[in-house]
This record gives sequence, C-alpha cells and structure tokens, in this order.
Amino acid sequence: MKKGKMIILSGPSGSGKTTISHCLLSKFPELKFSVSCTTRSIRNNEIHGKDYYFLSTSSFISKIKKYQFAEWEEVYPKLFYGTLKNEIFKIWKSNQHILFDIDVKGGLNLKRQYPNNSLSIFIMVDSVNILKKRLIARYYKNENNNDINIRLNRAKEENNYAKLFDFVLLNIDLYQTKKKAIKIVSNFIYDK
Ligand code: 5GP
Repeated sequence: MKKGKMIILSGPSGSGKTTISHCLLSKFPELKFSVSCTTRSIRNNEIHGKDYYFLSTSSFISKIKKYQFAEWEEVYPKLFYGTLKNEIFKIWKSNQHILFDIDVKGGLNLKRQYPNNSLSIFIMVDSVNILKKRLIARYYKNENNNDINIRLNRAKEENNYAKLFDFVLLNIDLYQTKKKAIKIVSNFIYDK
C-alpha cells in the first residue's frame, strides 16, 4: 500500500453516519475503524476496545497532558472524546486506511493536520424533526430526554460546519446515501 489515508465521517448524532461507516467498513477491507477514547458510560450493546476505549475522566485528562491525543473535544458538557495518535499510527502500520466517525470539530482538526491524505464527508439530515425521531428511537432505552435535547441542540450547531467538508451528503434515502459514500470513498482510496 502507498501512503496511509484517512476518511473522516462527521455529522450530527442520528444523521446515519454510524450506519454509513459500518457499510463502508464491510465494503472496503482496506479500511479500519479508528476506536476513540471517551469518558461517557458504556451502553448495553457496546464493547470496550471495539466501539470505544471507555476511560475515567482522570485517565482521559492524563492522556491530554501527555500529548497522546491527535485531537480531542468535550463533545457534550463534561463528556470527552478523542483520537489517540497511537491509534492512527497503529492502523497505518498495519497497511490499512483509517475511517473516523467523529464530531465536526475533531474531524476538521484532523483534516488540518493531514490535508494531503484525508477525505472529509459530512452526513446531513434535512430536518430536525427527523433527527429527533431517530434519536428517540435509538436512545429510549439508554438515555433520557435531556440527553436527546443536548444532541439536538448540538446537531443544529454542527450543520453550520458542513461547508468546510470535502463532501456533504444529504441523507434522505439511506440506500442512495450509502451508494454515494461508496463511490466517493472508492475514488479517494484508489486515486480515481
Ligand atoms: P456517541 O456518544 O453518540 O457515541 O458519540 C457522540 C459524538 O462524539 C458523535 O458525534 C461521535 O462522532 C463523536 N466522537 C466519537 N469519537 C470521537 C473522537 O475521537 N473525537 C471527537 N472529536 N468526536 C468523537
């Protein structure tokens, strides 16, 4: 493989970016998901080391102080998320390209650091009501109304950053959005 590349998927929680990221991972064996660190609590269906590295706040802060993160953000109040430099190097060392599912500020931060070998895609939803429905369906077991409202407010803010991404995909029809994402990623990976 030539130089390692990175694909950054960002967009509001509930936009469909996780589903699209799973689709890309199954379509392209040369892609590997970057496992982030987070201080939020683990959900029922999640696995430490696969979905996230779940850390205590003190351990997260210690890694910030040791400059171990390529980027980190307080995505929601008092909840930290970050990408370890080591995670990036580990994946490139294994001759794979990296797929990130991270928030917009983290995504743009990585794009700034790796302008020549990154592709950034923003997944957008056209209506806050659709987003609300998806979040309620997803979180009703794990999270309360306040968590959903925090995510909705953030979604409105995140949409303002869309224009800074290489591509914006408006996710109305999931099948079509997946198809477009596959085409964009394929062109990027194979230098078409
Ligand atoms: P959730 O708590 O729903 O898993 O994720 C919340 C938000 O944090 C999502 O928008 C997700 O993309 C983002 N996120 C996940 N990992 C990282 C990371 O390493 N860095 C940043 N900046 N955001 C992340």
